Amino acid sequence: MSARHRFTIAAVPADGVGTEVVDATRTALAELARRGPEPFEITWREFDWGSHYYAEHGRMMPEDGLDRLRDMDAIFFGAVGWPTVPDHVSLWGLRLAICQGFDQWANIRPVRFLPGVRSPLRGTQGAQDRALDWVVIRENSEGEYAGLGGRNLSARGPGHEVAVQSALFTEAGCERIVRYAFDLARTRQRPKVTGVTKSNAQQYGMVLWDEVFDRVAEEYPDVEAERVLVDAMAARFVLQPESLSVVVASNLHADILSDLGSALAGSLGVAASANLNPERRFPSMFEPVHGSAPDIAGQGVANPIGAFGSAALMLDHLGLRAAAAALEAAIAETTGAGALTPDIGGTATTDEVTKALVDRL
Ligand code: ATP
Ligand code: MG
Repeated sequence: MSARHRFTIAAVPADGVGTEVVDATRTALAELARRGPEPFEITWREFDWGSHYYAEHGRMMPEDGLDRLRDMDAIFFGAVGWPTVPDHVSLWGLRLAICQGFDQWANIRPVRFLPGVRSPLRGTQGAQDRALDWVVIRENSEGEYAGLGGRNLSARGPGHEVAVQSALFTEAGCERIVRYAFDLARTRQRPKVTGVTKSNAQQYGMVLWDEVFDRVAEEYPDVEAERVLVDAMAARFVLQPESLSVVVASNLHADILSDLGSALAGSLGVAASANLNPERRFPSMFEPVHGSAPDIAGQGVANPIGAFGSAALMLDHLGLRAAAAALEAAIAETTGAGALTPDIGGTATTDEVTKALVDRL
């Protein structure tokens, strides 16, 4: 096997169902490597970080955590968050630390209908019999999650606290993500980009974003471009899903819209994502969109489909196009054959869905 087909991947399962879906994914990838359309070899390095690590060490990952990940070909992440650690601590201490530390500025979240998965949109006018197929692109390095602001700014005592939460938008940051969206749109059946902001109410950063969007759009006359306000966009997702192809938005807006998108596709459990450092200076990270789901963790019923889809994005990123396509096809055949976890209307366990997928590779 050539070095081009050998990879070292970090597994960071972290919390709750994260560990269950990462296990399932490793099983699926091992079979795909063995029986799939192109040979490849993954050496996994497992990192036991997360909320249990926090309980012992008072931090979500070791101080030199990023250094340990730096030479990996990719990072496969489970989910972060557990009731014993404040959400903002666990998120910033691990997932956002990796995203920001490795400048993974493009978060790619494909949303599509899977065969056999019920969607709240299916059967509604407009979405009927249509193959919903979007990619939500989320700016992943600045915006509302730049961590700017502070508390206790008021000197007037209890009951008068003031908190400021600022958003950071740079022209370069807006431009690279918008350009990414237009480049991606060119590769799609429907070359269209919808830019989303709230520039009527937020007059600095979001107006800058809109201006950059319009300027970049002019360079892509072959790609249809439109701008929509985020509130109207939420309604569009539900009422005119067929009008969208690539959607690009800020860190916060795209986070919310992509959760809405995955719910429309059937469940948070089926949504895949990639956090890319497109320059490939640092490793990129692949993870299901869902969180640690404490309500179902440990029961063996977590939906692994979102993690499988994220693995397909990872294979594609590693240049294993045929293997990625084979995995995608097996995912669709698995759901189409009715191997479904409870969140999408079935009774199958995580292991049963994994086995059903492996049988179809
Ligand atoms: P986060 O803050 O990390 O995004 P969250 O609060 O949005 O997490 P999730 O952990 O994503 O919450 O869970 C939201 C709901 O979706 C829960 O009811 C959970 O059970 C369900 N869910 C999430 N992931 C899965 C999955 N893989 N399979 C089945 N159900 C899931
Ligand atoms: Mg969430």
